[in-house]
Amino acid sequence: MPDADSAKPNDDKPQEAGARATGKLIVISGPSGAGKTTLLKRMYAECPAPLVPSVSATTRKPRPGEVDGVDYHFLTPDEFRRRRENGEFLECFEVYGRGDWYGTLQSEVAPRLKAGKWVVLEIDVQGTIAVLEHYPDALTIFVQPESVEELDRRLTARGTETRAAIERRLEVARRELAEAERYRYRVTNDELDAAVTRLCEILKSCGS
Ligand code: ADP
Ligand code: 5GP
Repeated sequence: MPDADSAKPNDDKPQEAGARATGKLIVISGPSGAGKTTLLKRMYAECPAPLVPSVSATTRKPRPGEVDGVDYHFLTPDEFRRRRENGEFLECFEVYGRGDWYGTLQSEVAPRLKAGKWVVLEIDVQGTIAVLEHYPDALTIFVQPESVEELDRRLTARGTETRAAIERRLEVARRELAEAERYRYRVTNDELDAAVTRLCEILKSCGS
């Protein structure tokens, strides 16, 4: 089991507040390369719900074009550790077992749920399990590719990781795909438009 940390959320319980003022927590997972980023961009633009992304913190280096505070809060390992020790994370994990940490900051979630927003977490399977301990009613969606071979093709075409890093991600992907059944919904991202439509339908069905 990789190193992990899952702090207690703030004492206020947004899910138990008055029904109208309560937001929703939506957790989206899927192997790297499944198309989560691509799908979510479309979801934010096209789904009629008060969606807000939770911007995760990470110690990994930004990819070209990634913006601090938008794609991630890019932290140094020291700053990440400091915040972790300070109990600022709802959950955090060393996702690829090679020293890169990822985590959801409490400040990205609780205040927005309280304000009635639908907060979207894009996190891995271990993170989802930790979040469900605190927010058991979270809506969980797993985005999957048609096959691991297709994942390999997409990651290779994306060109943002070395071959060794891709191999590592494919290994994690095989393990993650075996966990897909933990999620309330599974969306196969083979044809992008169809996957976006399905995602929006799921949100709509959970909206009332
Ligand atoms: P993730 O965020 O899950 O790691 P990305 O959204 O970065 O995945 O997608 C990985 C690559 O696959 C990108 O180059 C993206 O353009 C491509 N991609 C995403 N969805 C599809 C799809 N339905 N068909 C083909 N390529 C796709
Ligand atoms: P990437 O480096 O491709 O942006 O993300 C790699 C993986 O880290 C993805 O599977 C993504 O879901 C996961 N991830 C991103 N943010 C978080 C987070 O805050 N917590 C956890 N547990 N996983 C995360």
